[in-house]
Amino acid sequence: MIKELAFRWPVLRQLFQGGDGTGAEAMSERTRTLQPKNKGAQVARSVCPYCAVGCGQLVFHDGNRLISIEGDPASPVSRGRLCPKGSDSFELLTHSKRLTKVKYRAPFSRHWQDLSLDKAMEMIADRVWDSREHSFIDSRDGQSLMQTTAIGHLGGATLDNEENYLIKKLFSAGLGMVCISNQARI
Ligand code: SF4
Repeated sequence: MIKELAFRWPVLRQLFQGGDGTGAEAMSERTRTLQPKNKGAQVARSVCPYCAVGCGQLVFHDGNRLISIEGDPASPVSRGRLCPKGSDSFELLTHSKRLTKVKYRAPFSRHWQDLSLDKAMEMIADRVWDSREHSFIDSRDGQSLMQTTAIGHLGGATLDNEENYLIKKLFSAGLGMVCISNQARI
């Protein structure tokens, strides 16, 4: 019993059990019994949302509570690694300063105001349609053009083939836009 109590002191453990002071002999009881924060949590496989590399992520959760997001060792793309952006995915979801409302700054205003998503979508649709109406060119020099260069679309890096196909179909074939770019350029 006394020996057990004495051996709780790391210096004694190191003196009598050997080691160079960097292993188990230097650990406190608390350190020895530490458990990972995601122990016992449920895990879902996912893909980092930031860029087109598509690194694998393990999303640890407990019911509706997110616990942590780690690199997925089984991913053939990233083999458990995440870059600093991907490593911060947890805060992308949980940070208290995360913006959750659409921000709008009216022309000449210095202040941002919150808009509902419905209102913002209506305003965007109105502006797209107005711009198209004012800039659409049917033909030039006897050649059919059917296009507008007044509106452009810049796609996100994580858009997949299907989303790019729909964007191209809607904006080019539907609205006549020619200025369209995505990381996966089709
Ligand atoms: S972890 Fe980094 S490199 Fe990998 S997909 Fe995310 S942002 Fe891209």
